[in-house]
Amino acid sequence: MSNAKSRHFQLQRLADGVYAAVASEGGYAICNAGIVDTGDRTIVFDTFISLNAAKDLLRVAKRLTPQNVIRVVNSHYHSDHVRGNQVFPPDVDILSTATTLEGIAHEEPEEIEWEREDIPKAIVDTKSKLRLEKDPKRRRELVLSIVYYEAIMKSLPKLKTRLPNITFEGDLMMHGTRRQVELLSLSGHTASDLVLYLPDEKIVFMGDLLFVNMHPYLVGGSPERWRKSLRKIGKLEVQTLVPGHGPVGKPSDLSLVDQYIQTLESIARNMVKMGKSPEAVSLQPVPPPFDNWYSSLEGIFAMNLDFLYKYANQEAQRAHWTAELTST
Ligand SMILES: [Zn+2]
Repeated sequence: MSNAKSRHFQLQRLADGVYAAVASEGGYAICNAGIVDTGDRTIVFDTFISLNAAKDLLRVAKRLTPQNVIRVVNSHYHSDHVRGNQVFPPDVDILSTATTLEGIAHEEPEEIEWEREDIPKAIVDTKSKLRLEKDPKRRRELVLSIVYYEAIMKSLPKLKTRLPNITFEGDLMMHGTRRQVELLSLSGHTASDLVLYLPDEKIVFMGDLLFVNMHPYLVGGSPERWRKSLRKIGKLEVQTLVPGHGPVGKPSDLSLVDQYIQTLESIARNMVKMGKSPEAVSLQPVPPPFDNWYSSLEGIFAMNLDFLYKYANQEAQRAHWTAELTST
């Protein structure tokens, strides 16, 4: 199976015809992807951030299921899950929700411009931080950040945003000759997060609604909706959960992310209640049991806390005005 290998990801067989492509540390995939043989079609779930990693994904999908027509699904609009779309041949359909299509079309031009201007400097800065850093955990995160930036830089010159060509709202069922595949429409990490659920195998590809042993990225999402989505997946009683980032997980990883969101929310609310300034956010230590989690981009914990601090501040202001209005 030498053809099914890539330096960017490790292929993990979860069931007959069901594979997770788990991003290798130091490779350019950055996020995880899935390959699912439905019998007559092969679904590729997410396409990585780098064109080279995506080319390997396409090669592996073809190698595993040479007889099948390939279909791509984008879980959500974030660049690390969709940029590989363009390496798939033009006759390969790319499916997403309408909200995800809008997200890619709206966010990518601005993001690409920002990256062209700012990433070269970010690489230089991160490399100089790395030279001074002694702590092994911090060093690992800085190295991962550099790899993340380099993955982007390598693809930028050839990047041409390829949007999904089939969109839908709500859930979508695919009745393959070999198995049933359900695309379930959830949200919380973004306004639209698709998960790919295999009811017979009790496997779910979670996109970024799940991170395993890593800080999930909460910024721009909705903590309430995220937790609601996690509860919904919990009810499906799945056994194997493929996260958007990190190793393949188990059901208890759902509750850990739920607990992470709740813990950070309560830290943020307390900070607002005690009148702490936004600057105090960066001084907050990572609470256990999350202090041994890492990030593929440095500083995710502080970004999350800053986001939830602002969220809690708005909440407090809304409560204040409601109280004022009802007392007059
Ligand atoms: Zn994401």
